[in-house]
Parts: sequence; structure tokens; C-alpha cells
Amino acid sequence: MRVSAETALNTAEDQVLAAPVVIRRPQHTLSRSNVSGNALKVLYRLKRCGHQAFIVGGGVRDLLLGLSPKDYDVVTDARPEQVRALFRNCRLIGRRFRLAHVRFGREVIEVVTFRSSQSGAEDDREHADSGRILRDNVYGTIDEDVWRRDFTVNALYYNIADFTIRDYARGMDDIASRTLRLIGDPETRYREDPVRMLRAARLSAKLGFRIAKHTARPIGEMAVLLQDVPAARLYDETLKLFQAGHAASSLSRLQQFGLFEHLFPDTARSLGADKSGVVLKFIQAGLNNTDRRVKAEKPVTPMFLFAVLLWFPIRETAERIRSEDGGSEIEAFLDACDEIVGEQRETTALPRRFSSPMKEMLLMQRRFHNRRGARARRLLQHRQFRAAYDFLLLRAECGDADPELARWWTEVQTLAPEEQHKAFAVKRRRRPRRRRRASRRPVAGGSGHGQAG
Ligand code: ATP
Ligand code: MG
Repeated sequence: MRVSAETALNTAEDQVLAAPVVIRRPQHTLSRSNVSGNALKVLYRLKRCGHQAFIVGGGVRDLLLGLSPKDYDVVTDARPEQVRALFRNCRLIGRRFRLAHVRFGREVIEVVTFRSSQSGAEDDREHADSGRILRDNVYGTIDEDVWRRDFTVNALYYNIADFTIRDYARGMDDIASRTLRLIGDPETRYREDPVRMLRAARLSAKLGFRIAKHTARPIGEMAVLLQDVPAARLYDETLKLFQAGHAASSLSRLQQFGLFEHLFPDTARSLGADKSGVVLKFIQAGLNNTDRRVKAEKPVTPMFLFAVLLWFPIRETAERIRSEDGGSEIEAFLDACDEIVGEQRETTALPRRFSSPMKEMLLMQRRFHNRRGARARRLLQHRQFRAAYDFLLLRAECGDADPELARWWTEVQTLAPEEQHKAFAVKRRRRPRRRRRASRRPVAGGSGHGQAG
């Protein structure tokens, strides 16, 4: 009887083979000509100096899939200090995981010493009560290193000594069936590092892989463990989720697995309460826009990303503050910004150098309604104008701002200076003619300065 892979790989022991399957060069498609020259330099140097050297992780995985890797991870038996001694352009970093960065201009090759996950040597490993690994500097062999990798497809080792690939966890099968499968017992692995849940969502979005049943099942229940992860790390992971060209599909994976509410609690609440669907439409449009920019190699900024994600929670909070305390619209909006950004920072530590301009940019959304006079004209020179204008276009696209207003601001930028002056000119008001009392009616709809609905 054939045992399905799903059943066969239930237990951790089944998953990591005692000896790896070694795939010789003719039997695989990973060609050195596709590997970054800098990664090769590092590998060859390590080898020449008598060390083992492999590419592992996303580099191998992506090359086998015909993609170009975002970065390269090299593993070696050389200790971090030995690696540093070999490369002039090398820096040791990290306390949690001590590793070497070898820098070539903008490219950084990460060089990591094999680690062991064996117990013992507890001096060099620290666990939180929850089982989360805090520090892990126990060096080991390649056979042990495999246990600290997350998914089977990330545990393929390309050996520079003979160009073979070592497969310890049937990762090649999972590449072929496009499956993300955690090595070992999923619950234990998520407890050790809850970020692995986000990595499952992110990599399945990026690669279009399915997540194996046992790997997916505990996520809903364990997602809450993300609250123990430092906000700085979740911020980094958020950027990987939303600024690597797969933001829109990352969002749907995060929602599908109940992870999004642990990253953006206020946004998740706005999404949950929204009956019209405009919040989701707006966020998706913003993320699609970011994805298009990444593909076109245009710059993207966390300022805009967080603005897209926090815009509705901020507005809703502003409305709440206003209805509770009265006060001006602007004051309520500023208070709401502080409240929501402050809360968001507790989960993902958005640096102030992004949150301050974000606030300015969001405030400008109100100012776009005023098209007359020098103050309105000066908006064009504002350092946040470009971003704020893009944001207005996005809102208009989703029915959250008046398309005519967006068109006006588009056109006014194309005018020659003189014409531009005229466009912003304050129209002289003629004296109102006297009307007969009977024809006066109250004006409906308020000031027109609220956010278009
Ligand atoms: P990409 O670089 O495309 O985002 P990646 O899988 O290479 O994906 P990296 O963050 O570059 O991700 O990590 C490199 C490798 O390190 C992974 O492939 C995996 O083997 C290992 N790794 C990274 N983060 C974790 C983690 N949280 N738990 C276990 N292993 C991890
Ligand atoms: Mg990588």
C-alpha cells in the first residue's frame, strides 16, 4: 500500500533523514552561472582555506525554482572569528544568532556557522518560559544544522566542493510538489519561534506554494504567540511581507491564517467592521500599487505602506474622539494619529523617521480640499506633496475621495506657472444680491471638508 506523504511525514524523526540524499550535479538544475559572483567568491575562499562551505535556504530554493534569490546564505564549519579573519569586508553581528556579514558594495553575503539544536551546552542557549529561543550559539555539524531550518525546502545545501545538493528532509520532493512543510513538530517549532508562522504566510505568498496540512493546522491557535515577539523584529518581518513585491497576496494569506490581526490589530478591526468593503478595497489597491513599484524597481517607503494600513483606523478614531470630546477636526485627527501610531508601535516598531512624515502626509489629505490662495498653492512645494498626491489618487480610485478633486490636482501640476497662478487665484466675490427671505434654505451636507465617503 502506498503511504501518502502527508501521513508519512507526521513525526519529526521521520522527517530528517539520518543521512542526506545527495543529488549529483547532472541530476539537478542549480547552475553556478546563476549564483551571484560575490556568493561564489565567499564560498571559494572558505573552501580554499580548508573549510566546508554551502549555500542554504532561499538561495538554493529560489535557484531550483528558476527565480533569482533575494539574498544568499552561506553556511560553513568555520567559526565567526575565523570567517572574519578571512575577509577584509566582514563584520560580525547579532547576539541572538552570531553571524558574519561579508559586504560587497550593496550586496551582503551572510555567513553562518553550522549550529546544533542538541540540548546541553545550555550556557550558549537561552529559552524563554514559552519555549521561545532567545539566544543560540551552540556550534555543530551540517547534520545538526538542518534541525534549525524552518521548512524542508529551505534545508537544501549546495556544496561548493562538488556542486552536489544535500537533501536532509525530502525538500526536493516538496520543491516538486510546491509545498511548504515545517521540519519537526510544527507546534514546537512555532513555539520556539512564532515568526515562522509569518514566514509560512510570506513564503507561500511569494512562491505560490501550498502549506502542508500539519504545518498549517496549528497556526490559528498559536498566532497569539506573536505578541511575545519583539516589536523591532515584527517590524522587519512586516517589511519583508509587504515590500518584497508580494504584498497583496501576503495580506490574503495572513488573513486566511488569522495572523493579520496580530500584526495590525487596529486595521483588522476596521476591516472587520466595514460593511461597504471600501477599507479592504483601499488596502488592496495600496498594496497592489506597492507591488507594481517593487516590480518596476521604483523606491517604496514604510511611510506610505503604514499610511495605507492605518488610514481608516486613524479616521475612525478621529471621528470617535470628536464625538466624545468635541473640539476641532484637526485636533481630533492629530490625536487619533498619535493614538493609532502609538498602538501600532507596540506590535511593529515603526521608526519615527517614517511615522512623522506619514502624519504630515495624512494631514495633507484634508488640505487638498482647499484649492484657492497662496496656502493651497504652497502645497505643491511641500516635501510630502508627491506622496500625499499619490495617496489621494489611491483614495479616489477606491471611492474614498472625489475623483474630480484628484483630477484637478493632477492637472494643476501640468500648468505653466502663470496658468497655475490663475488656477489657485482667489475669486473675487461679488456682493451677494439681495434675495427674498422666502427663498433662503439651510445648506445641506456640512462643510465639504470632511473625508469624502
Ligand atoms: P527570502 O530570502 O526569499 O525572503 P529565505 O528563506 O531565504 O527567504 P531568509 O530570511 O533569507 O529567508 O533566511 C535564510 C534561511 O535561514 C532560511 O531559508 C531558513 O533556512 C533559515 N531561517 C530563517 N529564518 C528562520 C526561522 N525563523 N526559523 C528557522 N529557520 C530560519
Ligand atoms: Mg534569503
